[in-house]
This record gives sequence, C-alpha cells and structure tokens, in this order.
Amino acid sequence: MLYWDYAAATPPYEEVVQTMEQIMKLHYANPSSLHRAGSEAGKLIRRSREVCAAALSVQPQEILFTSGATESNNLAIKGAALQYQTRGRHLVTTEIEHPSVYESFLQLQRMGWEVTFVAPDSTGVVDPDRVAAAVRRDTVLVSVMHVNNEIGTIQPLKEMGKLIKAVNPRTLFHVDGVQGYGKLAVDLKDWQVDLYSLSPHKLRGPRGVGLLYIKEGIKLFPLLTGGSHEEGQRAGTENVPAIVASSKAIRMSGEQRETFVAQLVPLRDRLLRFLRTVPEFVINSRQDGAPHIVHFSYPGMKGEVFARKLEELGMAVSTRSACSSRLAEPSRVLLSMGKDVSSASGGIRISLGDSHTDEDVAALEQALTTAVQALKIAEGGMK
Ligand code: PLP
Repeated sequence: MLYWDYAAATPPYEEVVQTMEQIMKLHYANPSSLHRAGSEAGKLIRRSREVCAAALSVQPQEILFTSGATESNNLAIKGAALQYQTRGRHLVTTEIEHPSVYESFLQLQRMGWEVTFVAPDSTGVVDPDRVAAAVRRDTVLVSVMHVNNEIGTIQPLKEMGKLIKAVNPRTLFHVDGVQGYGKLAVDLKDWQVDLYSLSPHKLRGPRGVGLLYIKEGIKLFPLLTGGSHEEGQRAGTENVPAIVASSKAIRMSGEQRETFVAQLVPLRDRLLRFLRTVPEFVINSRQDGAPHIVHFSYPGMKGEVFARKLEELGMAVSTRSACSSRLAEPSRVLLSMGKDVSSASGGIRISLGDSHTDEDVAALEQALTTAVQALKIAEGGMK
C-alpha cells in the first residue's frame, strides 16, 4: 500500500520514537512534583519550550503545550473571545477553516457573539482587503489558516496582518499554522501574528500533543481549569514524552524544510501535469499552492467511491481532510469556492511526504487511470 495522506498524519521520525520510549521509561515522574525526579521532568519541558521557541523565533514563555492543534485552535479562539469580551463581541474568520476553528466560531455564535465569515475567491484564496473590511472597533479576534488542509491554498498572511492591525491594532490575529509549518517559511513577527497553532503529528512528531504560541502580554480565558500547569493557561499533567519528542519533530522539520520542499515540488508538479490530462478530473489545487497537497474532483463520482477503488489498487488517499472524511455532505471548502455539489462531493486529496519517489507517483498515475476506467465500466454496466 502506498500512503498518500501525509496531510492527515505522518510517520514519526525514528528519533521521535526513541525519545518517547526513553522518556516514558526514565522520566515518568510528575513535572509538578517537588522531588528531584519531578524537577528533572520539569526541566525537560522547559528545554522543549526553548527548542520550539527557537524554531519559531519567539520567546520560550510564549509557547504553550496542549493536546493537539484542535485544542490550540479552540483555546486561541474561545479563550480570546471570553477573555476580551469587554472590548467587544465581534469575531472574523473565513469560510474555509478547519473544523476545529470553524466549529469554535459557530459555538461562539450560538452563545451570542457576532461572527463574520469571509468567503474565499474561486481558487480558495482569501482577499486580505475583504478580511480587513470586516474588522471593526469591537472586533476582538481574526482567525485565518496559513494553508488550507483540503486544497492546499496559501493565504497572504503578511498582507492580512498589516491590514487588520491598520484598522484596529487591538484586534488579535490567530493563525492555524498546521499545514504550513515545515513546508513554507513562517515569520510570526513580520505577519503580526498574536496566536499560532501547530500540530506535531503532521511534522513526523507524536500525536496527542499540540502547541500554541501566545504573544507576550496576551491572556486567554483558560478552557481547562485545575492545577496551575502552563502558567495557569491550561491545567493538566504535562505529557512529557510527547512534549519532548514534538520539540524534536518541530526543530527537525523546520531545519529540513528546504530539502523536503525541493524533493516534493517536482513530484507535485508531475502529478498536477498528469491530472490535467485526465478529462474526468477537475483540479482544485493552485499551481502556487503548498508543495504537499494536490486536490481534484471527479464530478459525478462520490469521492468515497473513488477513494475505495484506489485503495483496492494499493493507494491510500483521502477524500478531503481526515476530520471531515466520514461526513456524507459535500465539502464546505469547495462549496464556498463556488464549486457545484457534484464537484464538491467528488473530491480526492493526495498529500505527499518524504518517502515518495518518482516511481511512486508513476504507480499512482497508473492506479488513477485504472480506477477511472474500472468505475466507468461499472457505471456503464449499471445503466
Ligand atoms: N488545523 C488544520 C489545518 C489541520 O489540518 C488539522 C488536522 O488535520 C488540525 C487543525 C487539527 O490538528 P490535530 O489533529 O492536532 O488536532
């Protein structure tokens, strides 16, 4: 089976697996305990915070560890909305965010906040002017993703940050950086980002751990209360092995970014060139999108049916994002780009990683051709 779902989960680095095992065995003490074993575990967390901060060019005290980017996004959005509600109860986001962002805003909307959802253009790019036009005096937070997890479009964050802050310097700017880090350059200061979420398991790190950058001076209303872990921002005994291993993955994927991208781009371009030759497909990814995501639709064919056929042929792909792939509805992202229901229901996401070679892409192209032919014959037989 060839794995084409790196945007959903990645195989961990060998160093990550070894670190997890070592720390589970040796440093099982609770980092809050006062004895030496506890303070050693605490030291490991502090060191990991420094490693992550260096990778993002921020301060260690600005790094918070969570249980994953879903929690980071929930905390950034609801934590800011609740903490700063005396400033206003208006929020801005886009129609194409990951469910962990989108649903957080829907929940706040049900609780009485006013949310403006900005639509993308027909290629999935959100116009910074439209975001800025939505910002008001009472806008507490704007949240925009770096790279879309379904189609791989890159959002112009620098321009957005500049325009948002020009309209209202107190409006916080949150970026879901999950699909961007490790593939694209990140400059939180230059983009004027206040809150930034990362997911180590997309970067060959462990699952069950996430990161949230919180710019110094910003307080979030804690969603988890209990002990005084993470400076009172998030209660709960820290997952020491996963935190240490994720700091390794974040450092390594940041350091290896350019080599990784140089390997992916020719494979992505080859795949895009092939997809353009298949009349049944409509390509939804932009040529200048993220190097690891290629998305296309087979209008009239359910994405799930096509993905199952590809799996029979030895190719593991996704229909959209892993979090929504069990939903029967058409893709919210494609609909908001103006695609019809038939295209939005027939999407396939192929996401590339460092294990892939030219031969793998050739095998995938062959499988795609075979799958189209087989399904057309099956359809013809049913008529
Ligand atoms: N944001 C984006 C853009 C994602 O792609 C994902 C995962 O698919 C998440 C957030 C959620 O991350 P996690 O799996 O760490 O909760």
